[in-house]
Amino acid sequence: MSNRSKSLFDAALAVMPGGVNSPVRAFNNLRDNPIYFAKGDGPYLFDVDGKRYIDYVGSWGPAIAGHSNPEVVSAVRNQLDSGLSFGAPTEIETVLAEKIIKLVPSAEKLRMTSSGTEAAMSAIRLARGYTNRELIIKFEGCYHGHGDSLLVKAGSGAMTMGVPDSAGVPKDLANKTITLTYNDIPSAINTFKKLGKNIAAVIVEPIAGNMGCIPPVPEFLETLRELTSANKALLIFDEVMTGFRVGLGGAQKLFKITPDLTVLGKIIGGGLPVGAIAGKAQIIDFFAPVGPVYQAGTLSGNPLAMASGLATIELVSQKDFHKKLELSTAKLSRGLESLAQKKGVDLCVNHVCGMFGIFFSDQKMICNLEDVKNCDEKKFKSFFNIMLENGINLAPSRFEAGFVSSAHGEDELAATLRAAELAFSML
Ligand SMILES: *Cc1c(COP(=O)(O)O)cnc(C)c1O
Repeated sequence: MSNRSKSLFDAALAVMPGGVNSPVRAFNNLRDNPIYFAKGDGPYLFDVDGKRYIDYVGSWGPAIAGHSNPEVVSAVRNQLDSGLSFGAPTEIETVLAEKIIKLVPSAEKLRMTSSGTEAAMSAIRLARGYTNRELIIKFEGCYHGHGDSLLVKAGSGAMTMGVPDSAGVPKDLANKTITLTYNDIPSAINTFKKLGKNIAAVIVEPIAGNMGCIPPVPEFLETLRELTSANKALLIFDEVMTGFRVGLGGAQKLFKITPDLTVLGKIIGGGLPVGAIAGKAQIIDFFAPVGPVYQAGTLSGNPLAMASGLATIELVSQKDFHKKLELSTAKLSRGLESLAQKKGVDLCVNHVCGMFGIFFSDQKMICNLEDVKNCDEKKFKSFFNIMLENGINLAPSRFEAGFVSSAHGEDELAATLRAAELAFSML
């Protein structure tokens, strides 16, 4: 395969840790080197040797309308002629904010950042500042960026006081993050019984997308809403991945549960760096310069990123956009399952609208991180590599979700299923 990718990676290894600027890109445990891409077009990526791939990473979500979507590119190009960044307010920030506020139920006001990490980190600070409490609850396998308070996964068990998941996170800070099992309702209830009055916020991916794709079980999110309300803690939905991916109003609209704060990113930047913390006006106004919680950014609300985000939101707002995305993803997911069954491979594919998770498991339901860890790692590795050889680019980790775009048509889906059938017969 790709020889230039190998030599580019060798050069990168000398100047960047692991050769990459974000760990998952290194293809660790899967392949000797990642693929270097040179161009994206609709559902396709082209590597530096000119080989074409059908892409299911979509820049981890933002490319929901396909790579190099002409409308997004032209919106950015128009802005480009007027300047890249002024470090001052611009009209387009308000336009994008208004658009998001109109579509996301919990959003009355918002603050833009340059990444999902920043937004999640700031949401936690805001929740602590607003409630004047320190404890945070998160769920094992949910990723909320790499802010110190959130890089905590802790061991298994119903309730474990946080042990840092990364070197460099102070124990004293990790101690303030309680990690529970995703979809485990009794452990959430028990934790609130013991510590409810000290909990500033519960942060959760309303559909987990950083351990494959795991939807919430019935009553999970409802219970979190009730517990937080009853204890005057804030409920934070991290919709960096699900926002505009599973429907126009995100998972909160799908499940009809309104969190106090919502963290956004990925799609709202359309491929340029954007994040946002949205929520009740009364809470968002705790941010400086109105309130006492400091939060800032040199490039926050950057006009190029706003232009790309706005064009993307307009595309996904078109009639039946998500309905079609759901149909394509359902077709892919059910197709993979039935081909696997035909070839005698145990496979479970979860999907919600435009996101999916592939699990090599004989379990009917995959509900939490433990279930994902128990999946067949070797089979995933072989499957991933065979698909890649055959021109299908899947996320290079069994803990990542896959993404379908509106540019994926019948032909691409059929080609993907053909490659999968071949792969299943080789496992
Ligand atoms: C990607 C992601 C983040 C982090 O966003 P970055 O822009 O990579 O910092 C946070 N939360 C969730 C749910 C994500 O999927």
